[in-house]
Amino acid sequence: MMLLIGQGERIVPIGPPEPRHCPGCETVTDFQPRLRYKYGSLDLLFGFSYGKRYELACTRCEHGWILDTRLTERELGKVPIPFHLRFGLPVMLAVLAFLGAAAYAVRHPG
Ligand SMILES: [Zn+2]
Repeated sequence: MMLLIGQGERIVPIGPPEPRHCPGCETVTDFQPRLRYKYGSLDLLFGFSYGKRYELACTRCEHGWILDTRLTERELGKVPIPFHLRFGLPVMLAVLAFLGAAAYAVRHPG
């Protein structure tokens, strides 16, 4: 069995930019609300995410603020991370457990 193992970081915009005064640019710029998270994956089906962080960042200089996770998710009504990265690990463990049980049953019929 061959597994493709990958990892990376994703930044997902979670809403329209809003104008704010940026201390970095010293002017009013667009601030993008976004979700940043890291993920690891075993092939394309199974993975996991970690280091989830909501932030509001200046689109010019990246200066920004960290948003409250619970408050932001309540406003969004969902977590914008793909299903397989959110729940891939438990699914993978369940599949392995199932395969293990099936292999055991084949070797020990009855
Ligand atoms: Zn800025």
